[in-house]
Amino acid sequence: MPKGLMQDRPLLISSLIEHAACFHPHAEIVSRTTEGPIHRCTYADIHRRAKQLANALEVRGVGPGDRIATLAWNGYRHMELYYGVSGMGAVLHTINPRLFPEQIEYIVNHAEDQFLFFDLSFVPLVERLAKALPTVRGFVVMTDREHLPECSIPRLLCYEELLDAQTSDYLWPQFDETTASSLCYTSGTTGNPKGVLYSHRSSVLHSWAACATDGLAIGAGETALLVVPMFHVNAWGMPYAGAMCGARLVMPGPALDGKSVYQLMRDEKVTLALGVPTVWLMLLQYVDAERLTPKEDLCLRRVVIGGSSAPRAMSERFETTFGAFVVHAWGMTEMSPLGTVCNLLPKHGGYTLEQRLGIQEKQGRAVYGVEMKIVDDDGASLPHDGMASGHLLVRGPWITCGYYRDEGTSALDAAGFFDTGDVATIDADGYMQITDRSKDVIKSGGEWISSIALENAAIGHPAVAEAAVIGAPHPKWQERPLLIVVRKPGQALDRESMLQFLAGKVTHWWLPDDVAFVDELPHTATGKLHKLRLRELFRDYRLPHSR
Ligand code: ADP
Repeated sequence: MPKGLMQDRPLLISSLIEHAACFHPHAEIVSRTTEGPIHRCTYADIHRRAKQLANALEVRGVGPGDRIATLAWNGYRHMELYYGVSGMGAVLHTINPRLFPEQIEYIVNHAEDQFLFFDLSFVPLVERLAKALPTVRGFVVMTDREHLPECSIPRLLCYEELLDAQTSDYLWPQFDETTASSLCYTSGTTGNPKGVLYSHRSSVLHSWAACATDGLAIGAGETALLVVPMFHVNAWGMPYAGAMCGARLVMPGPALDGKSVYQLMRDEKVTLALGVPTVWLMLLQYVDAERLTPKEDLCLRRVVIGGSSAPRAMSERFETTFGAFVVHAWGMTEMSPLGTVCNLLPKHGGYTLEQRLGIQEKQGRAVYGVEMKIVDDDGASLPHDGMASGHLLVRGPWITCGYYRDEGTSALDAAGFFDTGDVATIDADGYMQITDRSKDVIKSGGEWISSIALENAAIGHPAVAEAAVIGAPHPKWQERPLLIVVRKPGQALDRESMLQFLAGKVTHWWLPDDVAFVDELPHTATGKLHKLRLRELFRDYRLPHSR
């Protein structure tokens, strides 16, 4: 076949920051720092300092493919590492500090990281781990000399001193676009965490999908608040997509409580915010407690919610209280993470808010680049009728084909599809809706009950702060749903009124057999309900009529 006569330019991460520095040089990166104050810089500054960083790593012998780890919040220095490390051909390994220390030790050793860059907040953690990390040649604290901590960390280096010693004279090397660029381990709620290794090509293609109108629709006119951490699937690719389109980025640092997030939204005139439902719960509770008026105070137009299901009640609150549209999105670490985005179609134009919220509850339509199908237990494709639910399989250029150093084992089926571990429906318009993780689905008398649908319905009750549903053993039906509820502070709510509220909102045979009230629910390192832990906690629980 004849080749096209087009230039063969590799899709490299360095080209994103070069573009931003050239065409959006003054667009700001605003960071709340670990040291305290708000810091402002531009894409041009990030580009310059990323090159200084690349020089600093090069003189210390870091070469192509070497892994450089970070334990850091969202901020400008972390962004410099994104570009400096990947840009020079090394691999940026972002570590989730919310993992157990033993898991962090495991993944640093598994990845054989050579340098570990960390924020001041993690000094005690690094002090505790340093001795157990033999591959790490230097521990770089991401601050200046003035803020250097008194600590026992060996081979300690200061970030600003590393940079100060270098010029920004550096030419980004050109190499094959399929070269590894960054590494992120899944949270490993069962077994050891597994490494997902992204490439330059996958990261750049993913950024295009994020910027696209039917993706996250970001552009130079946007001020985006990245509440989603840069250690969680590269903050959903936003540090790359932001540079691609010149969006102004706001980074909250360690302060993710309702008050701090609200202040940043207000002071920095944020138009788009991205995060998981648990942080939005904190924000909504703060707004309620302080009786704030977000519609008047803020410029927020859209909120992207992913990582867990965005309950209908949450989308409604953002719409009515904030005047902001919730964009529900779905993906996973193995997918860079973007899979589907819930944007509306022209036919939804005349919909009432009620009808529209029914659409927004779904996780959305596949962005170009992601192929998606649902299959039964035997692998046979199921219809896209919004009714049939099955295992969700995906294929595409920013989806993993195997885990890091898991040699020889492919994560794919014969046709090249990756099993997401999610169970979903797809309707005739292509809207996908997650009904469960396959491990969490409640199997009752041969039928499946969606724990997510029940949780979303329960959270609609004004006295409910958070809700989880697990399957409890039942002698006749095998499993029946048990609803576990955290009440809002000072609210009275009992089993009967909770069940009454749910009746009519879900099919009658889905109604939970019992309701348990707890003070808090366990969460994973990425802010999801920790169902495995919940099932352990309620192992000896007996449902009322099975006693
Ligand atoms: P972890 O490191 O916790 O595994 P991931 O982000 O990779 O983090 O988790 C991916 C999983 O999160 C998906 O397979 C799915 O089960 C869940 N998920 C992500 N987005 C949504 C969503 N919008 N609705 C429901 N579940 C979601």
